[in-house]
Amino acid sequence: MVNMGLLEKMIKTHRGDQWSREKITAVQRKRLLSLVKYARDNSPFYRNLYAEIGNDFTLTDLPPVSKPELMAHFDDVLTDRRITMAQIDDFTRDLDHIGRMIDNKYLIFKTSGSTGNPAVVLYDKQNIDVSSAVAAFRTFARKEDFRKFMHHGKKTAGVFADHGFYLACGMSRYLQLKMPHRKTKITVDVNAPESVIIKQLNDFQPSMLSGYPSNLALLADFEELRIHPDVVITGGELLTDDVRRKLERRFGCYVQTHYSCTEGGEIACECEEKHLHINEDWVIVEPIDSDHNPVPYGEMSDKVLLTNLSNYIQPFIRYELTDRVIVHDEKCKCGRNTLWLEIEGRTDDILEFENGVRIAPMSLYKVLEEVRSIRRFQLVQRAPDRVELRITSDDPGEAFAQAKRDLREFFGSKGLNVEIVPSDLSPQSDKTSGKFKHIYRNFE
Ligand SMILES: [Zn+2]
Repeated sequence: MVNMGLLEKMIKTHRGDQWSREKITAVQRKRLLSLVKYARDNSPFYRNLYAEIGNDFTLTDLPPVSKPELMAHFDDVLTDRRITMAQIDDFTRDLDHIGRMIDNKYLIFKTSGSTGNPAVVLYDKQNIDVSSAVAAFRTFARKEDFRKFMHHGKKTAGVFADHGFYLACGMSRYLQLKMPHRKTKITVDVNAPESVIIKQLNDFQPSMLSGYPSNLALLADFEELRIHPDVVITGGELLTDDVRRKLERRFGCYVQTHYSCTEGGEIACECEEKHLHINEDWVIVEPIDSDHNPVPYGEMSDKVLLTNLSNYIQPFIRYELTDRVIVHDEKCKCGRNTLWLEIEGRTDDILEFENGVRIAPMSLYKVLEEVRSIRRFQLVQRAPDRVELRITSDDPGEAFAQAKRDLREFFGSKGLNVEIVPSDLSPQSDKTSGKFKHIYRNFE
């Protein structure tokens, strides 16, 4: 059966690439009005939040919302009144439900808990279709890479955190379940031993390789990895120029990135000028300072307010993200009329242990955020065989014990015996730069 919803979103998204600024603004306005009306009519939380807002509002009249706020009022935020957090908790206890729909209607994802508790995010059919349409038309920066990818059977390997309700593996599993006869996609668990990852990739020979840049940079150092992708697409962290060049040299192909998050879907896609163009037909990005004032184009923001115009089950309208970005309005040479942005990336360190074993921060990050009772964490390497763990938790004793078990198992899988020491300190920012790192080295 032809999926009419997807077809329609594809046609709309394809047309969106040709639009003028005036047309983009008009479409955004129309979609925003429709989303706000739906949220008001169906979500008690938004009905209450917008009680004083008239029908002739502008975007900035709407009060911003934050993750803690939306999670605290989870059931009331949802526009489908039959779905509750209790039900979702129950559903997500079974890992076989990754990539399956609850109530036959909604996919469930969880975010990384970088700024407190993880968010739980529902995708409705329309949000899934928009994500697929944007991925289909805007993922590839260059047409020639897309042609090679199609020619080589669309074989895609993603090296991501598997075994969780994360966007990348959840969406990949959803597609695999929908088309079980197609063997064109694999997800390789980033936390598996390198030898296992390398064997899976060598056996599969992907045309498109995706993953976290820091982790792909580590894998690139293994001579045993013998793959020849047509394109490498990174995500989840900032792709630095150094890593981009390293991966280009190692794999002999084009290397690019994109900017997405679970709450907003595909926020921006890269063009051949290496500019991240905002998918303005489906999301609105507002750069703001720490007091929620708008930050002009060309200047670094403290945060971002994100509006996802395609998610109707769980509206994210002026939702605060802690990413720091510079939004540009200069016309890009690629011909697109959308705004584009630069992101200041996560700055966690790659840790190096005995025998030169190096571990990408994202791998440790994924281990620790699986520990449900941890609210925030910071892992500091103090010696080649010792790390210090700082956490905040309602039950620090239990949280630490579980984190220690999981970390020991993880380090053990890499052939390492690392001492894990608890700390009375809470996670804290660097005293000189003021930047916060979850994972870094600081030898005593
Ligand atoms: Zn461009």
